[in-house]
Amino acid sequence: MYDHIVIRYAEIALKGKNQKDFLNRLIHNIKEQIKTDLDITPVIEREMGRIYLKLDGQSPELFFDSLNHVFGISSYSPARKTGLELEDIKAAALDELRAAMNGPCRFRVSVKRPNKQFPITSPDMQQLIAAHMLKNISGLKADLHQYDIDLLLEIRYDAAYIYTRSYPGLHGLPVGSSGRGVVLLSGGIDSPVAGWLAMKRGVTIEAVHFHSYPYTSEKAKEKVLELAKRMAKYSNRVVVHMVPFTKIQEEIAHYCHDNMRIPIMRRIMVRIAEAIARQRDCLAIFTGDNLGQVASQTMESIYAINAVASMPILRPCITMEKEEIIRLAQQIDTYETSILPYEDCCTVFVPKEPKTKPKVEACEKEEAKLDLDALIADAVANTERIIMYGKEKPERRSAQ
Ligand code: ATP
Ligand code: MG
Repeated sequence: MYDHIVIRYAEIALKGKNQKDFLNRLIHNIKEQIKTDLDITPVIEREMGRIYLKLDGQSPELFFDSLNHVFGISSYSPARKTGLELEDIKAAALDELRAAMNGPCRFRVSVKRPNKQFPITSPDMQQLIAAHMLKNISGLKADLHQYDIDLLLEIRYDAAYIYTRSYPGLHGLPVGSSGRGVVLLSGGIDSPVAGWLAMKRGVTIEAVHFHSYPYTSEKAKEKVLELAKRMAKYSNRVVVHMVPFTKIQEEIAHYCHDNMRIPIMRRIMVRIAEAIARQRDCLAIFTGDNLGQVASQTMESIYAINAVASMPILRPCITMEKEEIIRLAQQIDTYETSILPYEDCCTVFVPKEPKTKPKVEACEKEEAKLDLDALIADAVANTERIIMYGKEKPERRSAQ
């Protein structure tokens, strides 16, 4: 029976002095994910280069979905742990191979021996274990190059781990190891992917959404919360800031030139997002912008929008093909929600001929017609904060 899952991490192993913090964060995230998903507090041990999740009679499969949603894991394997007595290792290897077999097959044995005090070298151990398998199981053929099953033995300092199956993890860095940022979350396909990519680099993400209720429906808001929930599957929880944007859009529509609406709207979004980011100790704004995709995403538009920011605006999808973004959205399970047909605040007020090359001075001239400071302060003050969890938990709402 499997008694452990061996968890490997790749990139964080390279982080030198910071490695300990990264590792602590990864272990914390694995524990939190399992606690939220399964209501189990797992026992986790670590040894140079490896993390071990102890199974307490549970089947390893129970934990796969949780592990598949934690950034920082490179791969994992359900394993049998034994002491370092040769007879114990042989017996566990036999059990493991028998369990993995599905009729006659070819196999090989691979040994890793970080514990150089173990008296048998890796090549000798490979031969010895392979011979023991062939002697005790019929229908087996050893083949180093063409094999159906790779029987792996890791001889570590106080124990050996034996396994045949490895599953890929998400890679990346553990969420929380790279600081905090806000993501401008629309109801579209790109911004959840941008948020996910930020999380993949270890950023704790909070979402900021601008809604224009009643021009946009209650359903459009629910859609964004559902997207945040799906993103929270990868980080346990996502705080969503719901910003009332109706009044600002009405004022823009009333006072500003029609073809300047989009850059002005975006520039105000950035100012509000920055104010929220400051309150929440965030150091960057992530967006789903993609160069050349729509009028607001030309180099000139991006320049005009950036001009009001004092915080970095990071755009993980900037050079990606739409197909690539869609594929990622499908993989992370936000696509089906993103394509639900509810309108976004930008589509409601979209001008007939948006300026594709807005100038900063022209934006400033139009903005001078608005009482910007009061509008922004009002929107920030009336922002609603909602915490979304990856698993069913009552969501918590509070005014900012
Ligand atoms: P997306 O698929 O993410 O909506 P898009 O291709 O539709 O992107 P735009 O509508 O121009 O592009 O939006 C560009 C970016 O601006 C979005 O990716 C998002 O980060 C931000 N954004 C747009 N609308 C909103 C909104 N209502 N609330 C929060 N952020 C928004
Ligand atoms: Mg959009």
